[in-house]
Amino acid sequence: MAYQTQKITGIVLKEVKTKESDKIITVLSRELGVINIYVKGAMRLKNKFHSAVSLFAYSEFVVFRSRSSELYQLNEAEVKHVFHRLSENIEYLALAMYMSELVCEVSVPDDMNNEILRLFLNMLHVMCSKRWPVDLCKAAFEMRLMCDTGYRPDLVGCKRCAKYEAELFFFDTENGRIVCNSCQKPYDRGFYIAEMPTVNALRYLAYADLEKMFGFNITGLFKYQLCAICERYILNHTKGEYKTLDFLKSVMTGEENKIEG
Ligand SMILES: [Zn+2]
Repeated sequence: MAYQTQKITGIVLKEVKTKESDKIITVLSRELGVINIYVKGAMRLKNKFHSAVSLFAYSEFVVFRSRSSELYQLNEAEVKHVFHRLSENIEYLALAMYMSELVCEVSVPDDMNNEILRLFLNMLHVMCSKRWPVDLCKAAFEMRLMCDTGYRPDLVGCKRCAKYEAELFFFDTENGRIVCNSCQKPYDRGFYIAEMPTVNALRYLAYADLEKMFGFNITGLFKYQLCAICERYILNHTKGEYKTLDFLKSVMTGEENKIEG
């Protein structure tokens, strides 16, 4: 069989206009991971799939492709959820765009498609409800995405003396582990300060079930430490530069602006 149709469920991460009224959407799907789908006539308002193929729509798609092509074609689409409130706030919208670029950039292991899709959807729900500030959402997504793509840090205790609690820890952004202040050496590079509340927040993000991951709060200096660590960690282990991150920083207000690697 040259063509085989398949039903998939996923979220639209990106859309690129092509000729006339067509577009190519990038979808993070439970079944196939990140794929590109060509949508004919998508830009026409009367297109019946219009909302299902729009940015950040969570939809069911029926797709097919020829064996020689990487690009899928759309047969049908039905929207399951639209995150309407996302577009009300430029910071959260910019964060969602950065999250999309990250997912397109990292290599998603086949057995983690569903987990990363769940993470993405959970984040959007938290963002739409404004339960967490944008910088904390950003940090949570960065750390959890690293965990889900093979970079879960070892936060159980100090890597050198195994201490679970210490006055002060340092997060090793190269190797994803923590070292306590008694064990830290002057030659250590890429270490970021993490006080106890920061380490505990990191443990939440790295080890808690997804449903419980949002069960903590952190503010002030500790939040600042957490955000700096999560951003540096993902930049160190991926391409290190994101246009959407630059944009996000340009629209972030208040204390979030100060976060720099
Ligand atoms: Zn130690």
